[in-house]
Amino acid sequence: MAETIKTSLLVVGGGPGGYVAAIRAGQLGLDTVLVDAERLGGTCLIRGCIPSKALIHAAGLYEEMTLAAAGPGRFGIHLGAKPELDFAETMAWKDGVVDRLNGGVTALLKRAKVRTLAGKAVFSEAKRCTVETADGPVTVLAENVILATGSLPVELPNLPFGRPGGKVISSTGALSLAKVPERLVVVGAGYIGLELGIAYAKLGAQVTVVEAQDRILPLYDTQLTQPVRRWLEKHGVALHLGAKALGEESAGLAIETRDGHRQVLPADHILVTVGRRPHAEGWGREAMGLAMNGRFIAVDDRCATPTTGVYAIGDVVGEPMLAHKASAQGEMVAEIIAGHRRRFDPVAIVAVCFTEPEIVTVGLGPDEVPAGVETVVGQFPFAANGRALSMDAGDDGGFVRVVARKADHRILGLQAVGRHISELAGQFATLLEMGAVLEDVAGIIHAHPTLSEGVNESALKALGHAIHI
Ligand SMILES: Cc1cc2nc3c(=O)[nH]c(=O)nc-3n(C[C@H](O)[C@H](O)[C@H](O)COP(=O)(O)OP(=O)(O)OC[C@H]3O[C@@H](n4cnc5c(N)ncnc54)[C@H](O)[C@@H]3O)c2cc1C
Repeated sequence: MAETIKTSLLVVGGGPGGYVAAIRAGQLGLDTVLVDAERLGGTCLIRGCIPSKALIHAAGLYEEMTLAAAGPGRFGIHLGAKPELDFAETMAWKDGVVDRLNGGVTALLKRAKVRTLAGKAVFSEAKRCTVETADGPVTVLAENVILATGSLPVELPNLPFGRPGGKVISSTGALSLAKVPERLVVVGAGYIGLELGIAYAKLGAQVTVVEAQDRILPLYDTQLTQPVRRWLEKHGVALHLGAKALGEESAGLAIETRDGHRQVLPADHILVTVGRRPHAEGWGREAMGLAMNGRFIAVDDRCATPTTGVYAIGDVVGEPMLAHKASAQGEMVAEIIAGHRRRFDPVAIVAVCFTEPEIVTVGLGPDEVPAGVETVVGQFPFAANGRALSMDAGDDGGFVRVVARKADHRILGLQAVGRHISELAGQFATLLEMGAVLEDVAGIIHAHPTLSEGVNESALKALGHAIHI
């Protein structure tokens, strides 16, 4: 007979939304069960944020060493021979990072006294599901449910994933290749495709990018994406913008170029990264009577669905599909269930592209400010920042930009592009969330030499008295 568990809280999905919700609920003394069909950590930890950044890091080191071996030598460092890449070892190191974090999440859940079930949850009612575990089916009856089922890669009908003998892979496939492909075609120039495409270009693959729109990273303004585009062009990554992917051929990918010509791009693998869709089907959502907001599960500003006691968080409830948003919602919902008064109302959510160079954005860009709001914009180039130059990072066209309301100097948005700038994300988020004005940033003594001095200078520039430009 199937085992039955009764619990205060059932969390479905052990990604950064679900596992954080479960840990916080456990800390708050709620009897909590967490179910995941795969490894704890979700998309982010197992096949997304973490393995991609590990691969990007290793690829960057390899590229630096290759440059030191090939050219006249940089920084006075000369390598006598080209570095050897044992890609299996690189992947094993990356997997080790993932394993370590997966173990950490498992231990944290245990410490918070969260019971975990490995298996797929299928709902028959709003607060009742069955999990097919290795030891047989377990029925869970819960007073409260948090759905954190995440998202899945979007498949193109003409380029299906996983066809036997086929070349088409998703980001998950790209993070588990056995060897560096000689020729990799990336379909979709969003952040996931470019992060992975750039990493493989650094590892020696001949990379071609195909994008239906007429520019890369279409969600960002062109001023921000220009340095990335320049890097791609300088490093021989071919770009086909305004092009349509037609289908797989034995030689590679057939496309229709912007001017209507058919062309076959040679490829060992075709990486399709055209977006992600909420994982809202296939686990009994229909039986739960939940409302939808387009493709996403509809929730209010407490992440509550119209069914009392049923909440949804993370990628399955909407944009931005980012790990830190999922975690923030998870923590909040656990506290709401424990009786706290909370709502999800961030001023802004910071986003980072780990491309070459990196991009960080939060809040509004100059073109996104509502009509009628007058702004001042201050922009400071990293070419004038000592720390950037001392890290060989000032010559990629990178800059930091602040957008503020003219009337009261309230900061509405911050953007930056440049090498190593992802760590500015915390400062950006803090300034927006604390409601900083330009004078606050100008008045903070920023440590020297750091990239954050560029943020200070951008505020000074907006105030009309930058020092270093
Ligand atoms: C290559 C790549 C790189 C990325 N890089 C970044 C980055 O740098 N920064 C960033 O913020 N975001 C990044 N993301 C996005 C990030 O991974 C997601 O936003 C984040 O994982 C969403 O968290 P989540 O908890 O909502 O869902 P997920 O992490 O998708 O977790 C959902 C979990 O639910 C489980 N599940 C689903 N249905 C069931 C069911 N019925 N029963 C049991 N278990 C179920 C799944 O197995 C999965 O483990 C990246 C994504 C990819 C693919």
